[in-house]
Amino acid sequence: MSKGINWEKIYGLLKERFKEGRLELKYQTPFELLVMAILASQESDKKVNSLKEELFNRFKTPKDFVEASLEEVQRSIRSINFYRRKAKLLKECCKVLLEKYGGEVPLDLEELIKLPGVGRKTANMLLAGFKRPAFVVDRHVFRVLGRLGLKFKEPDEAEIELKKALPKELWSPLSLLLMTLGKEVCRAKSPNCKECPICNYCKSCGY
Ligand code: SF4
Repeated sequence: MSKGINWEKIYGLLKERFKEGRLELKYQTPFELLVMAILASQESDKKVNSLKEELFNRFKTPKDFVEASLEEVQRSIRSINFYRRKAKLLKECCKVLLEKYGGEVPLDLEELIKLPGVGRKTANMLLAGFKRPAFVVDRHVFRVLGRLGLKFKEPDEAEIELKKALPKELWSPLSLLLMTLGKEVCRAKSPNCKECPICNYCKSCGY
């Protein structure tokens, strides 16, 4: 597979350890995941999850965000990093959802990345969250890939290259498992190589 990495073996070991990878964000619908993912940029999932109930009690549909004042949206998410910019993005994104997609979130990569506030990472997250083929490269996955010896210039490049190299059915489950590994074991400051299931396949294993 890609650049000498035995992905099938790595996938098997990660699956054995974590069963399956998952998004930490709480959501029920594509709209909820879209909003949560926009808020989660440069913010912890935990903090964003803590807002979920109150936020979706008030803003149930894209129309609710569009009709609310910018100040009200800002107030509702003010505990989140960059809330002013994110409130503006949420309103713009919901406006496009209403005008171009009948208020529905299109579960299609090319359509998703046309939405304000939605880059490839967020789009792939939405697709993976609803079991569509997608390779999510967030900061955790990007860090793990780097430590495995795969040096990409930026996450979008990693996503595109790995999709070319891997069978489609592996994209989403593998990327979510790498995300879980990055959050729980291969942490940014202190990777726990001693407890890492893929230590034998990692160029940076310090154990
Ligand atoms: S062996 Fe260490 S550096 Fe490599 S993936 Fe595992 S935790 Fe990260």
